[in-house]
Amino acid sequence: MQYDYLIVGAGLFGAVCAHELHKKGKCVLVLEKREHVGGNIYTENQDGIQVHKYGAHIFHTSDRDIWNYVNSFVEFNRFTNSPLALHQGKLYNLPFNMNTFYQLWGVKTPAEAMAKIEEQRSEMAGKEPVNLEEQAISLVGRDIYEKLIKGYTEKQWGRKATELPAFIIRRLPVRFTFDNNYFSDKYQGVPIGGYTKLVEKMLDGIEVRSGQDYLTQRGYYRSLAKKVIYTGPIDEYFNYCHGQLEYRSLRFEHERFEVDNYQGNAVINYTESEVPFTRVIEHKHFDSVDTPHTIVTREYPTEWKLGDEPYYPVNDDKNMEVFKKYRELAKNEDVIFGGRLAEYKYYDMHQVIRSALNYTKDIV
Ligand code: FAD
Ligand code: UDP
Repeated sequence: MQYDYLIVGAGLFGAVCAHELHKKGKCVLVLEKREHVGGNIYTENQDGIQVHKYGAHIFHTSDRDIWNYVNSFVEFNRFTNSPLALHQGKLYNLPFNMNTFYQLWGVKTPAEAMAKIEEQRSEMAGKEPVNLEEQAISLVGRDIYEKLIKGYTEKQWGRKATELPAFIIRRLPVRFTFDNNYFSDKYQGVPIGGYTKLVEKMLDGIEVRSGQDYLTQRGYYRSLAKKVIYTGPIDEYFNYCHGQLEYRSLRFEHERFEVDNYQGNAVINYTESEVPFTRVIEHKHFDSVDTPHTIVTREYPTEWKLGDEPYYPVNDDKNMEVFKKYRELAKNEDVIFGGRLAEYKYYDMHQVIRSALNYTKDIV
């Protein structure tokens, strides 16, 4: 056996594991089925603009060690995500904060806003929310739910908000200050020079074979290494023997305009159901680059089918039952399953890094 570790997937989980194991003196081979490294955080330099090819990525964490860790590879800028929501011709600030409440109801003080929200939430009084719709109403009330949540959520997930788990919406903050920062974390930014540079730095000195699908050459690649870390879809690994796990997929429509500023913000959400896309991203605003042109991406959620890119796991009860069966199978396999596809988990980047570091820290 030539290698101590074979890592399947050059996304963030695979790259952190590879880096840490290489640092410990292990001989590592990384396989990647795409033609590039980085997984979904891959960015591509297009005439000076870092284009987030698989959706906008903003790094945020409250964990200082993780922040220092990523900054040890590349410098991060101080980008703060403050998206806007467009609904029937009107713009609203996100996340839900005093600016949003003022735009919706004309309330100017936190006391007025709280009173309004209390009134709006009263239909859920005393009830435990059991789905996303109820969770949203009990958090911010019906007006915000109808204008800023329902349409977006049902487009995003392709399911009724009453059929979706409540936890999806719990990540969104509700604030009684005039603060448009989408995240409540201490540290936030985007790597200067793009995420691909971050991953390339992690993989520095490590053998990477791209354009190689582990599952189609499993016998050969398995024979090369003592241990395997697999970061692809867990159901695919087991040939879908318990059925397919469901995902939401996305279609990205990239367009170049010969203007220096198209929409004035990195992210604008389209929250009404009549508009088929959920977000419009203008990439240059992530790092305020000065170019005469701009690149804009419209994000269309689509139903996932075999062969499509799996983006968001659909962690409802039905899928979690199937996932548990795969997790049981995984216990008998001499392979480590990690990352958002192998763990079928809605993971942010800082969580993926933490999980990879936890896994590698005890390896001598
Ligand atoms: P992946 O990036 O999916 O990497 C897995 C890799 O394995 C892929 O490159 C894949 O090609 C490869 N692979 C799979 N099967 C095989 C095989 N059989 N053989 C070889 N290679 C294989 N997180 C944030 O913190 N902030 C954000 O703003 C943010 N925005 C997001 C926006 C979108 C649209 C999406 C979908 C996710 C977002 N995330 C965000 C989450 C972030 O993308 C993930 O946490 C992170 O990319 C997960 O890394 P991973 O290595 O687990 O998975
Ligand atoms: N959401 C919404 N309206 C918005 C933005 C988000 O209703 O304008 C809901 C939607 O259900 C989404 C969830 O909040 O799936 C989480 O949003 P987030 O921006 O964290 O999603 P991600 O960036 O992971 O796609």
